[in-house]
Amino acid sequence: MSDFNALVVEKDEETGKTSAMVKQLSDADLPDGEVTVAVEYSTVNYKDGLCIGPGGGLVRKYPHVPGIDFAGKVESSSDPRYKAGDKVVLTGWRVGEAHWGGYSQKASVKADWLVPLPEGLDTRQAMAVGTAGFTAMLAVMALEDHGIKSGPVLVTGAAGGVGSVATAILANLGHEVAAVTGRPETEDYLKSLGATQIVAREEINETVKRPLEGETWGGCVDAVGGEMLARLLGQMQYGASVAAVGLAGGAGLPATVIPFLLRGVNLLGIDSVMQPYDNRLRAWERIARDLPMTKLEAMVQPASLSDLPELGRDILKGQVKGRVVVDVNA
Ligand code: NDP
Repeated sequence: MSDFNALVVEKDEETGKTSAMVKQLSDADLPDGEVTVAVEYSTVNYKDGLCIGPGGGLVRKYPHVPGIDFAGKVESSSDPRYKAGDKVVLTGWRVGEAHWGGYSQKASVKADWLVPLPEGLDTRQAMAVGTAGFTAMLAVMALEDHGIKSGPVLVTGAAGGVGSVATAILANLGHEVAAVTGRPETEDYLKSLGATQIVAREEINETVKRPLEGETWGGCVDAVGGEMLARLLGQMQYGASVAAVGLAGGAGLPATVIPFLLRGVNLLGIDSVMQPYDNRLRAWERIARDLPMTKLEAMVQPASLSDLPELGRDILKGQVKGRVVVDVNA
């Protein structure tokens, strides 16, 4: 039995208010699981922002340890697929929401939720990618499956986590990338990731008014949803696809069916949470192959467990640039 640190979110049942602080826990506090992992790194995703705060309907039970992804070394395992010392990575499966997550020096999870760390990535790099980057890769793979058309590929919410990784992967695969951002000050950053065109958020939201505009984009990874997604559908090339990943700009979709009927546009929903093992492995192998590690480094902002309450608030306000990597042992 050994003590370890974790970010614990507690709820005051009387006021309904939640508070998050770093606490010392022991092995007996861990939830049931087949594999105990000595966590090395986790990250900050949009859902983590929700779970560090009042939960947004995601947290099943308090006290709670958020962190929807982590990478580390197996400490012990009752499942024959893993042995002590194996390096593993976890995304999805409602870990960090319904089950205690990666904002902890130790995690206890089902073996099915893990994948072995792919060759070519260390645990820190894997978390620089994290759920956001993993989802970006799933989105790129979905676009490839449906065929990327001529013309630049649009990436929305480009300076955020999903958008940054999607931009770097698409550029590395040789596509021209148009990065949509509401933060003009990120232009140099986005160009360093390989974007060839920077599109101001308003250019999509405010200038596209008709259900169909000129056929401009050969594909799109959309992390924003809402008005932005509705507008950009009418700018897609004939038969092009939009991989819809997120709703940072809203959950509503004030669109018409016209782009689907008259341009054969495909709207592909991307879910990283319930991906079967083989898909997860394939996506991680593609990440190790197709995402330049120098570009990944440019996206990284380091953090420790005690930085998380503030970072959780920042990501919900759309103020985090690139990827936050949490060293849980710092
Ligand atoms: P980030 O906060 O890092 O990035 C989101 C970006 O969206 C911001 O950086 C900003 O980019 C843009 N944005 C924020 N608010 C608005 C707004 N009101 N209108 C237009 N653009 C806005 O989050 P992530 O990249 O980690 O996640 C993006 C979305 O994807 C979230 O909704 C998240 O929940 C979802 N997601 C879904 C997954 C899945 O499995 N489907 C997995 C992971 C994430 P900029 O400043 O460049 O404009």
